[in-house]
Amino acid sequence: MFALPDDPELLKAQYRAFSRQVPLLYVILMMNAWALALTLSPHAPAWLTVHVALLLSAICAARIFFWWRKRHIEPDAEAARAALQRTLRFAVVLSLAYSGWALSLYGYGTPYTKAHVSFFMAITLVSCVFCLMYLRAAALIVALIVNTLFVTFFMSTGEPTFIASALNVVLVTIAMLIIVTINYNHFRQMVEAQTRAVALGEENFRLANLDSLTDLPNRRAFFSRLEEMFRAARANGETFSVGIIDLDGFKPVNDTYGHSVGDQLLREIGERLRRACLTDGTFAARLGGDEFTILVTGEIGGGALTTRGQGLCEALSRPVALPTARVQVSSSIGFARDGADVPSPTELMNRADFALYQSKRLNRGAATVFSDAHKEMIHRESLIEQTLRGADLDLELSVAFQPIVDIRTNRPVAFEALARWQSPYLGTVSPGEFIPIAERTGIISRLTCELLRKALSEAKTWPKGMRLSFNLSAHDLMSTDTLLKIAALITRSAFDNSLLDLEITETAFIFDASQVENSLQFLRDLGCGVAIDDFGTGYSSLSRLHALPLTKLKIDRSFVSSIDTNPASLDIVRSLVHLSRNRKLDCIAEGVETHSELAELRRLGVAFAQGYFFARPMTADQVPHYLAEHQDPGQPATSSA
Ligand code: C2E
Ligand code: CA
Ligand code: CA
Repeated sequence: MFALPDDPELLKAQYRAFSRQVPLLYVILMMNAWALALTLSPHAPAWLTVHVALLLSAICAARIFFWWRKRHIEPDAEAARAALQRTLRFAVVLSLAYSGWALSLYGYGTPYTKAHVSFFMAITLVSCVFCLMYLRAAALIVALIVNTLFVTFFMSTGEPTFIASALNVVLVTIAMLIIVTINYNHFRQMVEAQTRAVALGEENFRLANLDSLTDLPNRRAFFSRLEEMFRAARANGETFSVGIIDLDGFKPVNDTYGHSVGDQLLREIGERLRRACLTDGTFAARLGGDEFTILVTGEIGGGALTTRGQGLCEALSRPVALPTARVQVSSSIGFARDGADVPSPTELMNRADFALYQSKRLNRGAATVFSDAHKEMIHRESLIEQTLRGADLDLELSVAFQPIVDIRTNRPVAFEALARWQSPYLGTVSPGEFIPIAERTGIISRLTCELLRKALSEAKTWPKGMRLSFNLSAHDLMSTDTLLKIAALITRSAFDNSLLDLEITETAFIFDASQVENSLQFLRDLGCGVAIDDFGTGYSSLSRLHALPLTKLKIDRSFVSSIDTNPASLDIVRSLVHLSRNRKLDCIAEGVETHSELAELRRLGVAFAQGYFFARPMTADQVPHYLAEHQDPGQPATSSA
């Protein structure tokens, strides 16, 4: 009862509540002391009146000063306990001192001053108990000491008025202590409720910011940390880098082994990321799906960042042994460093995203740091995008044709249509540059339709039986609207549907594979052939190939161009030729540039080839001339150039 509570939160709350009432308590004590000292100073010696009042005031002032100095300090539970404990000791000392002093003055003066002594004790007691409302132990100590002295002393005087007032004071004190106790209990309950609410709030905050699968901070936590670091960087010049990590080959694992294995894999990857980041305080989070992010603090050079990222990639790509399967994924990372030229956290993320995209394209399974060259690329890309959006496609786009040759008879059997763009502002822009931009920005379908229309209207003038190959983008196959437009162009054209081959790269299947399959089947049903382009450069293709309605397979230039120098390329081409034979697909070798490559292809039994060795892509006007020169089977279909 006379001790302080154990609950640390309650102690701190008591400290806060009490510290607000401290000045009032001591000011009352000083006022009351001076009132008594002054009424008694004519009767009692100065050392007992004014001097003692001075001494007591000094003590009170010292206490006020002590609390005032600490008014802005939010103490921990231990410090609060120490301060309140000291207050309890002062309560004992001051109660004894005040009561003893008042009673020692009783012997001097008149019945009026005696009455003042009694009044002084009662009123001081009441005010102290109220001021100590939130420090119940102190209130009890004061009440007990003062009441005991008061009652014993005034009972002993035998004076009925004083005896009555002593009893009266006791009863009032008891009533007050009941009120204090009720009040104190409310106060305690309120503090407990507040503590619970704070804890609940903290738990909610934790849950709202945590990814439930990996226990890493989630997307929301990541972005709020990113904003925070960005603001701090602008305020005090500290710098940092952001890295986006994307798993390569997660989707096939998920599709093959099911979501539960996919989840286990993500959990393990999350754990590895956490361990790798633990040592240096790097913040790691899961953005969602198979995407993770890190925030690296401090000035760190591009080279060091790449090395760091490389280490992370290695850690994440070690095989994972799960109860039901042993799986392996690799990861690519894109980094962007914060700097004065980064206007917003969003821009920083865009840069890291761009670096990641470059990693996936050119440097799969490794780290790429956003550089000035990338900045230049982005600038160029947005220029191309803007110009392309405003371009007169009918006027500026044209189609070039490159022959595909039957290398057994040396006769051209088809032409591949290749897009050409002559912009009045940018000059000639290569399709390798503008097609990916058109795809990314969603304007590819306009281009596809315009190019297909032009290609078909040229092809219908060609000699009977000459085929046309046309490149479709994966995006065209993902949109029903575009697909219907393409179908309308094909069926309305005078060119024979069955002589048209539509080429699609195998990376198309990283999109919704079943949607792509359906679209290809739709085109097959129109009578068109379907060729898989740049074959061998994708990574999950062989297993998928069986399900696709294909008629042709085009071996990527990168294998063909090293076929006579690199045994590995030769092996790959050989197995692709086998594959096409098994699946009864026509096989076309792309990018043949030399006679020795051609000889090698002939030896492997490849039937069709395309490349600079035969002819470069030519304008529509040049096609009849080329055909006239190469229709004779006795003449090899090589260009004279
Ligand atoms: P692709 O479909 O693989 O087209 C073959 C590319 O290889 C063409 O480049 C062609 O000029 C080039 N090429 C042909 N033979 C040789 C050779 O012997 N050596 C070398 N080094 N290159 C050779 P181009 O015309 O610059 O087209 C680049 C890419 O742009 C195409 O690759 C294709 O992916 C895309 N593309 C071109 N036209 C279209 C189109 O109309 N629609 C779509 N969606 N993409 C197109
Ligand atoms: Ca092609
Ligand atoms: Ca190709």
